Amino acid sequence: MSYERSNIRKLAAYVPGEQPKVSKLIKLNTNENPYPPVPAVMKAIADVQGDHLRRYPSPTAQGFREAAARVHHVEPEQVIATNGSDELLRLVMTVYCEPSGMRTNQPGGIGVTNPTYSLYSVLADIQDTPEIVVDLDDDYGMPSDLSDRWNAAGCKLGFIVNPHAPSGRFYELHEIRKVAEKFDGVLIVDEAYVDFAEHDALELVRQQPDGLGLENVLVTRTLSKGYSLAGLRFGYGIGSHKIIAALDKARDSYNTDILSQAAATTAIEARDAVAESWEKVILERDRMRDELEKRGYKVFPSAANFLLTVPPKGRVGAAKIYQSLADKGIYVRYFTHDNMCDKLRITVGTPEQNDALYNALDQIK
Ligand SMILES: *Cc1c(COP(=O)(O)O)cnc(C)c1O
Repeated sequence: MSYERSNIRKLAAYVPGEQPKVSKLIKLNTNENPYPPVPAVMKAIADVQGDHLRRYPSPTAQGFREAAARVHHVEPEQVIATNGSDELLRLVMTVYCEPSGMRTNQPGGIGVTNPTYSLYSVLADIQDTPEIVVDLDDDYGMPSDLSDRWNAAGCKLGFIVNPHAPSGRFYELHEIRKVAEKFDGVLIVDEAYVDFAEHDALELVRQQPDGLGLENVLVTRTLSKGYSLAGLRFGYGIGSHKIIAALDKARDSYNTDILSQAAATTAIEARDAVAESWEKVILERDRMRDELEKRGYKVFPSAANFLLTVPPKGRVGAAKIYQSLADKGIYVRYFTHDNMCDKLRITVGTPEQNDALYNALDQIK
């Protein structure tokens, strides 16, 4: 006998990138920052006293909210902190999507693009809400009728990743603005990789006169990638007062803990120091593009800390390269689904790690 809901019984769970236990391994598969967190963050964690842990944390992570509001020029009431941005993505579905038990043809679901971050679809299945998928073009550009199609299907939420995952493509502010203004639901702009890009979409959510003050946009951020804190589990969202208040009602009472609040607040206040690692990653990203192109690989333009690449045709295929690299202790990401199975997604590592990658590629015949 099993007692779970039927959608959970049928659920194909999210498949995270591998986290092998071997320590000498070169991990270029899950888009972590290759550099350690800044020392101030480690000190903030060490400074937490037993007495702090004895008490409950601030339910809203108020100190973090205020720090993030200062850094991003928004109001603290426009910020919500979560246990990784994955928790925030789940929370928006709880708050906005109808658990209708139908995969499609029912209003109240989510609109996504294909391809996109694969977790959205899993979260929709958990919520048992419909999902409408709109294909991106061959260069991962958004079709001009994206919002219309989401609207026609009655989507309550739309998801754009910018820079886009898994391609790295950057969408300009005016493109996202157009989607938001035409969409009759809440648009999630997932900026997990924005630290490696030149611009962000916060202007859409900032109050007038500094911004456009759009009521239906939520920008999501994470400290996992840019801030080298994937193990900490801290993310946040920035949106209108209305969206944040709705999300705040439905989150777990104490969804972020004392240790992560201390580390995250220090991290975001140290943004300028952290940004030095972003500069290094960006330089290496450009070098990796050159090195791959030299070897005949097609490389998609990327504003993120990874490159999506197609190995030269008629030679060793992507699946085989992935396996050969893994055998040499270098992990990159290979996706089996249709349009991705001829490609590899490679996280930008340190110069030494990247050199090891190029050497390994040269040995694969
Ligand atoms: C990594 C990633 C996230 C999740 O970040 P966490 O804060 O670690 O949960 C969200 N969206 C995209 C597109 C990502 O790549």
